Amino acid sequence: MNVLVINAGSSSLKYQLMNPETGDVSAKGLCERIYIDGRLTHKVGDKKVEKDIPMPTHAEAIQAVLGILVDPVDGVIKSVDEIDAVGHRVLHGGMEFSDSCIIDDEVIAAIEKCIPLGPLHNPANLMGIRACQAVMPKTPQVAVFDTAFHMTMPPKAYRYAIPTEYYKNDDIRRYGFHGTSHKYIARRAAALVGKTDFKMVNCHLGNGSSMSAIKDGKCVDTTMGLSPLAGVPMGTRSGDIDACVVQFICNKYNMSVDECLNMLNKKSGVLGLSDGLSSDFRDLEAGAEQGNEACKLALEKFYYEVAKYVGAYAAALNGIDVLTFTAGVGENGITTRQAVCDYLGFMGVKIDPEKNKIRGKETLISTPDSKVQVWIIPTNEELMIAQDTAELVNAAK
Ligand code: AMP
Repeated sequence: MNVLVINAGSSSLKYQLMNPETGDVSAKGLCERIYIDGRLTHKVGDKKVEKDIPMPTHAEAIQAVLGILVDPVDGVIKSVDEIDAVGHRVLHGGMEFSDSCIIDDEVIAAIEKCIPLGPLHNPANLMGIRACQAVMPKTPQVAVFDTAFHMTMPPKAYRYAIPTEYYKNDDIRRYGFHGTSHKYIARRAAALVGKTDFKMVNCHLGNGSSMSAIKDGKCVDTTMGLSPLAGVPMGTRSGDIDACVVQFICNKYNMSVDECLNMLNKKSGVLGLSDGLSSDFRDLEAGAEQGNEACKLALEKFYYEVAKYVGAYAAALNGIDVLTFTAGVGENGITTRQAVCDYLGFMGVKIDPEKNKIRGKETLISTPDSKVQVWIIPTNEELMIAQDTAELVNAAK
């Protein structure tokens, strides 16, 4: 089966053509500068092709993708009919979606209803969906939501302690994000541990970071909230912050709330703490090694907050069996994993520094006598999207 996985942003569109059973990717690429001029980067194995193709809308971007997939020289399929289904990443499923689903008019209307919750991403995701429907009307399309995995959280985890009317009238609550990644890691962890009934904390640490408390494969709490701004400090996002900070800054600097939120989303996190030096953990590690105090503080703050959430979730779950690290920093950050685990010795977490010296490979890094198994598990959101898509399309046959 061939599934085309699409992740449409406001001016970009990423794609992968993959086999959901084997995880083999036959081609992948990126359309950029949609609405501006249009640039396609297409990769088959090690071969990379770059082309300037006019993309006045997402529809032309999708056409460019299909065009290159069937191209006699750079393509990997003979006809678009060889694409059995399309899986779309959709950011916000609000309270409408607790799982992936086959796209029809009702689903599109419900994704539209969630636009106030995901004002930047959902419209772009919808443009990707509509563009695919226009150029391949007979191919089934599936929506996979970043929020869906977290819909199993109990009210005590997802409700904010603010007047009920905002929840009842406006759906204001914790939703959580990176759900496709958390779901993939929960499934891989179950396969690696060899059982399904266990308690784990997954640390998805990348440019955006979130953590989830997971019991028997289901999410019971997560760090991101109504938006992806909440939780641990990130590359450029502040993470959790006292709402009065916004009030103070807006009043003092005559900023609008939107301007202040832009600062919290784009200029904060480890970038802000490192005095604007970098949001990239490799730069921060290099800076810290050279004695830069701001870089040291940025990293220390990050390790501290990640460890604090592991502790909080261990309390929420009444102990944990497994701790997993994934995404750019989680998979590659040797120092980060060591520093986080150093905080967790009190709960029996013990990692082997030698086993920890590894990047991007599925590896058990805890010692045999550790009370908690600690794993590095590289995430694969595209594969999860392709698998959900295949499952739904096959079930509907
Ligand atoms: P992601 O958003 O998942 O792509 O992760 C991006 C983050 O991973 C960036 O902050 C990178 O600095 C970080 N990263 C990638 N490779 C390494 C590495 N070798 N050591 C530490 N951090 C890394």
